Amino acid sequence: MATVTQKPKQAKAPNIRQTQLLIDGEWVDAVSGKTFATINPATEEKIADVAEGDKADIDRAVKAARKAFETGPWSKMDARDRGRLMNKLADLVEANLEELAALETLDNGKPISDSRAADLPLVIDCLRYYAGWADKIHGETIPVRGNFFSYTLREPLGVVGQIIPWNFPLLMVAWKWGPALAAGCTIVMKPAEQTPLSCLRMAELAMEAGFPPGVINIVPGYGPTAGAALVEHPDVDKIAFTGEHRTAQLIMTNAAQTLKRLTFELGGKSPNVIFADADLDAAVAGAEFGLFFNQGQCCCAGSRVFVQQDVHEKFVEKLVSRASNRKLGDPFDPETTQGPQVDEAQFSKILSYIEKGRQGGAECLTGGERFGDKGFYVQPTVFNNVTDDMEIATDEIFGPVMSILPFKDVDEVVERSNKSMFGLAAAVWTRDVGKAHHFAKSVRAGTIWVNCYDVFDAAAPFGGFKMSGIGRELGEAALANYTELKTVTMSLD
Ligand code: ADP
Repeated sequence: MATVTQKPKQAKAPNIRQTQLLIDGEWVDAVSGKTFATINPATEEKIADVAEGDKADIDRAVKAARKAFETGPWSKMDARDRGRLMNKLADLVEANLEELAALETLDNGKPISDSRAADLPLVIDCLRYYAGWADKIHGETIPVRGNFFSYTLREPLGVVGQIIPWNFPLLMVAWKWGPALAAGCTIVMKPAEQTPLSCLRMAELAMEAGFPPGVINIVPGYGPTAGAALVEHPDVDKIAFTGEHRTAQLIMTNAAQTLKRLTFELGGKSPNVIFADADLDAAVAGAEFGLFFNQGQCCCAGSRVFVQQDVHEKFVEKLVSRASNRKLGDPFDPETTQGPQVDEAQFSKILSYIEKGRQGGAECLTGGERFGDKGFYVQPTVFNNVTDDMEIATDEIFGPVMSILPFKDVDEVVERSNKSMFGLAAAVWTRDVGKAHHFAKSVRAGTIWVNCYDVFDAAAPFGGFKMSGIGRELGEAALANYTELKTVTMSLD
């Protein structure tokens, strides 16, 4: 009997249910009454007006979070019950997967097939992973000198401010909420101004799951206003930030006054290294995915593709064929593999880097232009014979622009891989186990992928060396970002 493979459904734009601020369990307008427009990057049309939070709203949200942390039901809740609430939220996200995936695609522009198969499943998995941690966070007993009993407690850090970017709007919510809620903190979150909608819908689901008022507060708004107010607020214990390193530098300066705990997950210029002994087809597919996934808008995008000389020509030929066959178009079409960039600012920045690449003498093998005449689409672009000092090889472009750099041997490529202020991720493609381990040990980056790229798991820590960040997200490591260690010593005399 012949099997019929059904084409995945064309997705529909969802109804927008929530555009207000969430403070103390209530949906409210901004104190100023102001709103800002969120734009569909595929059509450049307005999707909705969203309440624009500012200092006054941040202050209300922080007060609510403080009250919930100190005196509310959350502060007295058994850890296991916190975990149950988190699992309930994960179930609700799963039950509403289609709607959330469509919202993500509408606001961010990412292909619906990615929202459905990557973003949402990772969100659900992350929430369930941290739900399991809620009742497993504990201290140790310590054999101190003398007749004393000494032990540590890992207490929730307090009120945490979480500032997230637009490239994986919901996944960043899950990465931030997961460890914070498991640890027993309360949250004031500022989603990115480009993509507030899915975060607001997820907060609605959190209310439905039964999180007490004030535990999760959401204040959409702009960075220099709402974001800065959160960073400077004296009653916020910590800022967890994901975004550009320049913004992190500003946050660090502004947080100094109140000595806030800070964790940063920042940018990168990650090397993806292909040795001549690699499975070339797998490496080509990995290089394409490692850079073009999510329109190149990944902090860990493999944007410096180092290819060993012996296979350089063959690699380039195969890669260009794959890149030029990517399917750009309506992100709601399940066959689309590349959507628009998130907004006009990113779109223009990427096109200006392409121009710099050309002027700097790199050879543009495919792409290099806008795609179509509506929406912020950029053609998949591949530059060959790029040298280490060109701007396209040093700066984070955050778009579908690949630089291919030929190399001769291991020592050279390790040195060149490390020649960056960033150190978020790196990948190596080889069949030689020794070479893979040598590379993994020698390259200064927080994640090393061997014969794969962008493999994420809620259990595996992620974060940067050097200017790519401070601290680690995901895994057990992230819990340290949301707890304070307390030592208790008792006389036994
Ligand atoms: P991107 O260029 O990817 O938008 P940003 O670092 O500018 O990266 O933005 C990431 C997040 O940081 C967004 O939510 C943004 O609003 C916020 N942000 C921007 N500037 C500031 C600031 N001065 N203080 C606090 N948050 C900020």
